[in-house]
Amino acid sequence: MFDTPQSARPGTLYIVATPIGNLRDLTLHALDVLRSVDLIAAEDTRNTQGLLSAYGIQARLTPMHEHNEQAAAARLVMTLQEGKSVAYVSDAGTPGISDPGARLVAAARAAGVVVVPIPGASAVATALSVSGLESSWLFVGFLPAKTSGRRRALENLRDLPYALVFYEAPHRVKETVVDLCALLGGDRRILFARELTKRFEQLHACPLAEALAWLEADENHQRGEFVLVLDPPAAREENDDAEAHHVLALLLEELPVKQAAHLAARLTGARKNALYQLALEMKQQGESDGPTEDHPA
Ligand code: SAM
Repeated sequence: MFDTPQSARPGTLYIVATPIGNLRDLTLHALDVLRSVDLIAAEDTRNTQGLLSAYGIQARLTPMHEHNEQAAAARLVMTLQEGKSVAYVSDAGTPGISDPGARLVAAARAAGVVVVPIPGASAVATALSVSGLESSWLFVGFLPAKTSGRRRALENLRDLPYALVFYEAPHRVKETVVDLCALLGGDRRILFARELTKRFEQLHACPLAEALAWLEADENHQRGEFVLVLDPPAAREENDDAEAHHVLALLLEELPVKQAAHLAARLTGARKNALYQLALEMKQQGESDGPTEDHPA
């Protein structure tokens, strides 16, 4: 059963997700709102006009992009306080996700204006939905454009136990992939999610060591819009385990099992219960091995 169409409410700001390629990925709820609001603020009014025309919607449009967001937001809040309803749409996908919108939302909420999300397409969620990953993930968005900043950012991300999700532009995808491989290691798997929901949509997964060769194998592989999804660092987990075991073994030489497990968990971030079990096993093992000449009882 469909809910009944919902008209925009007075004095309300709607943050509306729009398609990331396929124009049919606009929700019925978004259509209700775009048809009924008093004003649509858009990142690029010409671009949004194209979307609205495709759906036969006539609306008053005003621009709000990253260069005028602060001033435009202040004006829009005044309009909202006068009781008008406003929708904000970015060029594609969900506003506020690597797109303008956050400042407007903050200004509106600070002024006590009701803000309503109208969910829909976003490239990050779309890519993750076909990544086959079950792990937690961290959305990085665009890396810094300058090489030094990008490498520093990657160094900070390298050891985090999460899948990483990046947005990337076609003219930078090669250099980004080279840095990803150099700093995160060639074994880590990357998924290229290219041109999602569009005619030349492509999904390709491979180890980072093979990623540059794949990009260079066909010029088309470097075209269009990209989401890059990196698997979490599997090897790191093994290293973490090894480190936690080592710390635990050292602490067990001086402390009772419970205290050693507790302290090792705090020092290494490993799970306390798992370390406690391990500590018990280590203790039992040590007792059954008996005292040695080097370590008399
Ligand atoms: N707000 C948008 C969202 O919710 O996904 C993101 C806007 S950001 C300015 C644009 C970037 O998103 C592109 O450079 C690309 O990395 C990614 N992107 C947008 N549409 C895409 C698509 N159809 N396929 C793959 N990536 C896409």
